[in-house]
Parts: sequence; C-alpha cells; structure tokens
Amino acid sequence: MFAYIKGNFITNRKKGGEEMNYLSGNLELMHELNTKQILRVIRQFNPISRSEIVEKTNLTAATVSRIVSKLIEFNLVTETGYGESSGGRKPILLELNPGAVLTVGIDLEIDEIKGLIIDLNGRVLLEDNLSIKGEREQDHIINRVIEIIKKLLSKKDYRSRVTGIGIGMHGLVDYARGISIFPPAFGWRDIPVADMIKKEFDLPVIIENNVRALTLAENWFGMAKDLNNFICLKVGSGIGSGIFTDGKLYRGASNSAGEIGHTMVDEDGPLCSCGNYGCLESMASIPAIVKRTVKALKQGADSKINSMVNNLKEINEETVFLAAKQGDQLAGQVLQDTGRYLGIGIANLINILNPEVVIIGGDIVLAGDIILESMRSTVHNRALSYPAEHVKIINSRMGKEGVAIGAAALILESVFNIGHNINVDIGL
Ligand SMILES: [Zn+2]
Repeated sequence: MFAYIKGNFITNRKKGGEEMNYLSGNLELMHELNTKQILRVIRQFNPISRSEIVEKTNLTAATVSRIVSKLIEFNLVTETGYGESSGGRKPILLELNPGAVLTVGIDLEIDEIKGLIIDLNGRVLLEDNLSIKGEREQDHIINRVIEIIKKLLSKKDYRSRVTGIGIGMHGLVDYARGISIFPPAFGWRDIPVADMIKKEFDLPVIIENNVRALTLAENWFGMAKDLNNFICLKVGSGIGSGIFTDGKLYRGASNSAGEIGHTMVDEDGPLCSCGNYGCLESMASIPAIVKRTVKALKQGADSKINSMVNNLKEINEETVFLAAKQGDQLAGQVLQDTGRYLGIGIANLINILNPEVVIIGGDIVLAGDIILESMRSTVHNRALSYPAEHVKIINSRMGKEGVAIGAAALILESVFNIGHNINVDIGL
C-alpha cells in the first residue's frame, strides 16, 4: 500500500490549503499516512501502548487498533510486555522490531566506497568497502557501487528484509530526481545515479548530498536524535553544512542550501577552489590546515613537527593534530585559528537559523577539543547573544560510517515520514 506515495503527490503542495482535500480524497493514502504516523510515534516513544498512540496521534482508537494489528501481522511491531495501569487493565506495550526493516547505505567518497546494512536502531549489521583511488569515469564508479551492493545483499538472509538503498555523495545532488548534478572531484554533469543503480536491483534507490546524509544520520541515531532544528557542519577536504529545520532537511530551491564553505571569512584570504578569495573552505578545511602549517614551517617557525617528519611533504592533518595535542605552539595556533574561522561561519549560521545544536563532523573531529573551544569562544563573541546562549556546539560521534548510515536512513525517512516524495514499499 505504500505504493500510493509516488513522485507527484508532493507537487500538489503548491496548492497550499488544498493539499489535505486532495489527500482526504484518497482513503488508502490517508490510511498510509496514518500508518506512517503510528510507526513514527512507536519509534519515538518505544515502548508505547495503543491508548498512548491514540493520545499522541489524535487518531481514533479503532484506526490505531486496526493499523497496529497489521503492523504486528507483518512483524514490524511486537507486543513486548505490560505498562503501568491507570486503574483498569494493564496496557500492552508495543515496540518496533528493529530487524524487520533493513536498509543499505553507501558513502561514495572520492577515493573509496563504503557500504553497510543497518537495522531500525541504526545498528550496522554488515559493512564493506572498496578503493576507487584515481578512478573518475562515471560508468566505472557506478559499477563499483553496484559491485559493493551486490556483495552486501549476498550475505545471510538480509536480502529479503532490505527495503531500499541510499547513497550519499559529494557535490550538488537533485534528491527528488535521483541525479548527481555536479560532483566537482569527479567532474560529472547530470548523471542519473539512482536510476542506474535501480536497474540492477528491484529496490528503491535514493541519492543525497553526503553532508545532508550525515545530518540525517545525526537526527536518526546521533547527537541530534529527534531534534527539530539543528545544523551539522562537515569539515574535511571541503566544508559543507546540513540544515535541519522544523523537523526536516532543508535543501533550498535548487538543492544547494548549506554551502557554508563558500561564504567569505577574509577578503584578503587565499584563493578558493570556487574562484573566490578567503572562503571558509580555503581557510579551515583539512588541506587548508596542512597548507598553513607548511607555510609557517617554510618561513622558519619553530615547531616539533620538524622532528616528526623527514620532509615537509610528509605533513598531513594527523601530524598537526598530534603535535598540537603534545603542546606544540605552532600546531596549537594553527588549530586555534581554524576554530576561529569556523566559529565565524557558525556564528553567521546561528544568527540566521537559530538552531538548538550545531554538530561538527568530518575528519576535523580528530583534532579534539582545541578547535572546539576556539569555535565556541568565537561564537560566544560574535553571534547574537540570545541564540548563542541557547545553542550547543558539539562534536559528532558518528565516526567514519556517519555518511553511509545517513544514506541508509534516507530510506527509513521514506518509510516513516509523511510528505515524502520517494516511494518505499515495506510490503504491508
Ligand atoms: Zn569558495
């Protein structure tokens, strides 16, 4: 029955208030929306009784009872015990069965493909990766993605429970049409990645920008679990942000929302890959950290890094992070400056979007607290005091699997969330 949510119903939103009339005209669709609503409430308040579901959804007891029976029949929900009685019989508690719906998540990185299968709790059941170092040609890379998915689906009895495949990749992605519009490192233009992969598997495929996928992972399983307003900043070879506002990912009019990496921090700063000068990415990305360190050493700065490497070419971010942790002044200064630049970008985001939490993800997390503290004090000094007092700035704990887990959560988002325009059939 989930087949009713197909591409076009979202376009009916244009008519604004007419949306509900359109929906209520379709009983089966209403039924499905009710199912999604119930599934969502069970997930959020796990374990929960039928009468609590009635309270939280405003659906009738009969509707809740009918849909819950169906969810139990299809093993999506199980009765796990009894709750506290409020006078009468003790209520039966319902829980999601985490293994009932599995999803595949792919992180298509520039040099590597990570693939995994997760359950409804975000537990990684299976994981694999493939190197694509130096490979750029689209058909070749897509074939490698297909190869890793085939490998994941060939294991154990997972295949029958996998409901879809999510893919996170860099660059501009048209999520609704499944197209990679422009991933700069690959140099592709308008590649229908979702369709190319869908052909190989009888499963829905959703693609999304990697930073947005990571943001979704934080909302489903990470530091922003069930928060409605937060920002996730990914700082690695580039810098991007995922904006989660009013309970939804914000994509913008043409899918480019969140490009904080290309906002200016210093007019006189270095040239950026986008052609401008002094973008946040050119000042605070991992390559920028390494570049600034090497430049200072070339200019004769005193640092223990000189004794940690044979020549300046060996210096990478790990060298700088390690030296800073050991109290090296130069490395510490480079990281503090990086935190200050990031803090300026974050202060701007906070003033505009007023998030509850800002989560820092990507390889920058490995630098530890030096950057985080410098970021926090810059935000404290620069952002408007009211939103700054109410925001927490924290490091992600998702680890290297974050994007792949978020990609898998794209499919869960379709199963659980109303107003989603990509169909995922969970067999009810
Ligand atoms: Zn730029």
